Amino acid sequence: MIELESAIKKTLSLIKKLDNESISLVSSRGRYNALELTSKINLPIFDNSAMDGYAVASADLKEATISNPINLRCIENIPSGTSTKKKIKHGTCMRIFTGSPIPEGADAVIMQEDCQYNNEDGLIQINNQVKPWENIRIQGEDVRQGDKLLSKGELINSGAIGLLNATGHNNIIVGKKPRIGLIATGNELTESSNKLELGKIYESNRGMLASIITQANGLPKIYPIVKDDLDETTSALESAITENDLIITSGGVSVGDHDFIKPALKKIGGEINLWKVSMKPGKPFMLGQAEGKTIFGLPGNPVSTLITFLLLARPAILKLQGATNLHLTSNTGTLSNEIFNHSNRRHFIRVKIDENCHVSSIGNQGSHMLSNLTKINGLIDIPPNSHIAKGGKVEVLMIPS
Ligand code: AMP
Ligand code: MG
Repeated sequence: MIELESAIKKTLSLIKKLDNESISLVSSRGRYNALELTSKINLPIFDNSAMDGYAVASADLKEATISNPINLRCIENIPSGTSTKKKIKHGTCMRIFTGSPIPEGADAVIMQEDCQYNNEDGLIQINNQVKPWENIRIQGEDVRQGDKLLSKGELINSGAIGLLNATGHNNIIVGKKPRIGLIATGNELTESSNKLELGKIYESNRGMLASIITQANGLPKIYPIVKDDLDETTSALESAITENDLIITSGGVSVGDHDFIKPALKKIGGEINLWKVSMKPGKPFMLGQAEGKTIFGLPGNPVSTLITFLLLARPAILKLQGATNLHLTSNTGTLSNEIFNHSNRRHFIRVKIDENCHVSSIGNQGSHMLSNLTKINGLIDIPPNSHIAKGGKVEVLMIPS
């Protein structure tokens, strides 16, 4: 039995990143950027106005007050999307709008609320001063040409998409989505569309895994339920290995007479890299390899399946895409109820952390018990034979929603 940290390290050492692909930026949210991106341009691209008003030489308005307004002649109109070759000279100004380029000779924009158009002489009467560069957004003050926009392996969020669009990107190179084969084993398992016979249960791991794999950009492929039979398990594994980048099985990795994942893996010439991790739930976890593909043998109890997936398999799915951050994010919270771990293995307890960072364990923690999965959003790691008192600070590993 090995420690979880060693198991994670071993797992990740087997995973090699998949190839990259170019996709449109608009569809890239949640994917992982594959190449370091720098800006080819400055942002703002040119000096431009932060206001609707008049572009002026600030020196012309040095003396301007409400009681002593200064008159300037407006010599040009610069609506958004246009520019002018005209220059501001002493005694002149130009009508300008938010985002319009600052004309030569201007060093400030006076906002239109401080100005009045005089119908009689066509002059703009200005009753306030303006400091040099006031109301001007300077070229490159946000992004300089050559600045780094996004690192290799960074998660692409909506903000990154906005920044990349603004700097002239249309497409982005990302790590390919991994194809993940999902196999569920067990003579007792029935598709939920079937009538239940005595002794049978509805299969529920593949759907749960497929949904959370999709959240991590994986492309899940669900295989038919596999009976506890060596030949059937072997042929299911063979197909899944041929058709996917990574394989996840559930059930059949214990020491029972009906556990065929390990024998099937050996039969196809694969190797078992590790088996059994010192954690609760999830002890009978297996990591194996065959034909260059990695196989995760998760325990069958639904909560064990989920937790071993989140802690051991999900990081591998992210590494296949070249992600930098592979592990669950965490939040610190305060325990609302005392929590015990009477076992000699660390226990990952299902909890809910609310918006005030209050953490409570909800419902029964049995690894076969699904009912609280709709209410919890995190896990806390309780060391063996220990307890955490009410009010204690805990790190909550967040389950991606
Ligand atoms: P196993 O790991 O095969 O020994 O299974 C442990 C427990 O999990 C048994 O009670 C199984 O019936 C249950 N189980 C295994 N696979 C699934 C599955 N895909 N869906 C629901 N329950 C399962
Ligand atoms: Mg079984």
